[in-house]
Amino acid sequence: MVFGFLPKKLLLPEIDKTKMETNKTFTMIKPDAVASQHIGAILNKITQAGFKIVALKYTSLSPELAGKFYAVHAERPFYKDLCSFMSSGPIVAAILEKDDAVASFRKLIGATNPAQAEEGTIRKEFAESIEKNAVHGSDSDENAQIEGNFFFSAFEKF
Ligand code: GDP
Repeated sequence: MVFGFLPKKLLLPEIDKTKMETNKTFTMIKPDAVASQHIGAILNKITQAGFKIVALKYTSLSPELAGKFYAVHAERPFYKDLCSFMSSGPIVAAILEKDDAVASFRKLIGATNPAQAEEGTIRKEFAESIEKNAVHGSDSDENAQIEGNFFFSAFEKF
């Protein structure tokens, strides 16, 4: 298991910033929401909010892959717990398309801590705690592209 120091080979590959898109974001429905049978309801909220699903996958993360995906948080005290949680069961990964996708999706999912999330947001409705918070949403165009490439090949994006 890779939880502490992350060797360079575990860092996500860089992307060509000249080809960066602003109409795409990446999401995961996390193991808590999958286990609670909320996949359908969450995908429904996402499409009702005007996002087009351009790639979709039901899969799971090993502890090593969770560690790689969340490498940016490697120094945070919750990193080990986060990697255990994110590899504790299946997840749904998706690339979503909409104008201003990253900001629009962050608004739809709400604050990291569901206790602070606005009414109507996905985390307000489905999250259990600050860790088991139902969904991931990329925080920048660059990370959206990196994270989408982590899960999907060019042949899986429509
Ligand atoms: P996000 O962008 O809203 O997902 O939040 P962050 O990027 O700050 O954190 C990534 C993920 O780590 C969150 O979605 C939570 O699952 C988890 N997380 C964040 N803060 C905490 C914390 O204080 N404690 C624990 N246990 N998990 C946290």
